[in-house]
Amino acid sequence: VDGAVKHYDGGGVVRALDGVSFELHAGELLGIMGPSGSGKSTLLLIAGLLEPPTAGEVRIGGQRVSWPGADLDGLREVRRRRIGFVFQKPNLIPFLNATENVALALEIDDVPPGPARRHAGGLLRALGLAHRASSLPARLSGGEQQRVAVARALANDPPLILADEPTAALDSVRGRQVIALFRRIADERGAGIAVVTHDPRALDLFDRTIELSDGKLVGASTGIGGLVLQRGLSEGDVERR
Ligand code: ATP
Ligand code: MG
Repeated sequence: VDGAVKHYDGGGVVRALDGVSFELHAGELLGIMGPSGSGKSTLLLIAGLLEPPTAGEVRIGGQRVSWPGADLDGLREVRRRRIGFVFQKPNLIPFLNATENVALALEIDDVPPGPARRHAGGLLRALGLAHRASSLPARLSGGEQQRVAVARALANDPPLILADEPTAALDSVRGRQVIALFRRIADERGAGIAVVTHDPRALDLFDRTIELSDGKLVGASTGIGGLVLQRGLSEGDVERR
């Protein structure tokens, strides 16, 4: 994402993003932090090709895919095949159970129902939801729904995963389990994964974090050998420490 500016019309103009740039590499797990209203969801929607920027652009593999006024409807296939998106609200299909919600993401890609359900079941198990596989969304807690949404985003093995506060409704053990699964997928499959999180408890699993405030990038940390540095420390500082 290069120089993303986003203005919303809401009575007056809301300046949600004010020139934010970041890169997400294959195999990298990136945390996006910042207070409420700082522009985290907006940044993810722009990176996920769901909202065009007001200025700036998005590139995937060096190719420009989104810019002000770009036709994002025409990018449906790119989104479907290449980007797994976890919305801040889970948006599950209410009349399909957990397994069916996840399997649907594969059946759209012509995976037969049997294998699709088996794969969905495996993902739900990995997220600690084996016992909820046949439950409808309305019978699931907020954190359980959010984990089903994570499983759905992972189902077709996309090279890019963008997740908006997937652990917000989870206790620290469950939250860490979700981030640990992202870590494994980044390591084993080389996916690039960006996760909006307020939770400092799983930070050691991230390669890097960036921090937004008031629509601007105000901080970044680098992970070295699993150690996540605090903001403001350079790599030299770390070596000295
Ligand atoms: P939170 O942590 O509460 O989810 P956030 O960092 O994700 O916050 P955003 O949702 O990106 O913040 O919102 C950034 C700013 O843009 C806020 O001032 C918000 O009110 C505004 N905003 C977001 N979406 C819209 C919209 N569709 N229309 C108008 N204003 C919006
Ligand atoms: Mg948000």
